Amino acid sequence: MSEAEKIQMVDLYGQYLGMRDEIDNAISNVIASSSFIRGDEVKRLEGELADFIGVKHAVTCGTGTDALMLSLMASGLERGDEVIMPAFTFAAVAEVVLLLGGVPVFADVDESTFNIDPESVDRMVSARTKAIVPVHLFGQPCDMVSLTDIAARNNLVLIEDNAQSFGAVCRMPSGHDVFAGAVGNIGCTSFFPSKVLGCFGDGGAVFTDDDKSAELIRALANHGQYKKYTHEYVGVNSRLDTLQAAVLRAKLPHVPLWIESRRAAAKYYTENLMDVPQIKLPTEMPESTHVYHQYTLRVSPESRDGLKDALAAAGIPSMIYYPSALFEQPAYRDKCLRDPMADSCQILTRSVLSLPMHSELTHEQQDRVIEAVKFYFSDKD
Ligand SMILES: *Cc1c(COP(=O)(O)O)cnc(C)c1O
Repeated sequence: MSEAEKIQMVDLYGQYLGMRDEIDNAISNVIASSSFIRGDEVKRLEGELADFIGVKHAVTCGTGTDALMLSLMASGLERGDEVIMPAFTFAAVAEVVLLLGGVPVFADVDESTFNIDPESVDRMVSARTKAIVPVHLFGQPCDMVSLTDIAARNNLVLIEDNAQSFGAVCRMPSGHDVFAGAVGNIGCTSFFPSKVLGCFGDGGAVFTDDDKSAELIRALANHGQYKKYTHEYVGVNSRLDTLQAAVLRAKLPHVPLWIESRRAAAKYYTENLMDVPQIKLPTEMPESTHVYHQYTLRVSPESRDGLKDALAAAGIPSMIYYPSALFEQPAYRDKCLRDPMADSCQILTRSVLSLPMHSELTHEQQDRVIEAVKFYFSDKD
């Protein structure tokens, strides 16, 4: 099999080849300016990101994890404050809450959408709760209407972890469409290379309509200074490189088309896998759009690892996002609280499997994936 035909979870090089000149020019221009830190491209990108998402301010930073940390710092998180988050997600939110002296409180997720369950969030609100951090997992926004209501009723900060759903839309009851990341007080995203909008290294951003939060986050990300050598706060060094900003500026206009390609690929998987009784396909909610950062199947725990091995034997990569609930992690398990009724995440950790998904996927490649999945289940009930 040639390199070109090899199926990958994400095809970063293929995406680059589709826009090679634009990227190469963007990179050469930054090198020519040699303004590698806080160059003009960073300012321009922030303006374009804010326009794209429909917020007043986009502030870039070093990573998506830093975006979450800076948002929590700007929200005034204090030692012992509780932050409610899903137990089934990437570790970043839990990690930064613990680093800041807070307590991660793990809510359960909905088995069919993989997203945080508002009823579980409601159960876990206490007098110490400071914030809720819903994570829009795998490309689909959480139930932001219910979460906004819970946050408002309890006077909590609502910070969206939108690392996986850049470009997804929430249909609000007002009839307005609002981009994920622009619904809560602060939205965070990551430009890790494999995300829907990724750069050529690490990067992140924070979105908000609140002038004070934006200004504070900007200062915190730059050693706590508004003015050079006047440190108003204990901050961090978390900046987006000018080179990464230039790459992101070249890529941003392509995002809507890439999302269309991902959605078309998801539709093709769904149409061709829906008659396999042993698998549950991703559920699309009517109140939002799905940008398919991942196309994630649910199968019985008895067949999940066997399916993964069978795909691997056929040269098809697949991934388990995520193999354990965050409250089971050695570093967090004694320092967190959890919804005792949170059993959906433990079912999901044993039954999820994500198939190759990216904007360059061809029907021929997908046919091979589909065939391999069907073949695995052909002799099983
Ligand atoms: C990728 C990701 C992050 C962290 O992003 P980095 O840029 O790698 O720090 C945070 N949360 C979720 C849900 C992610 O998928």
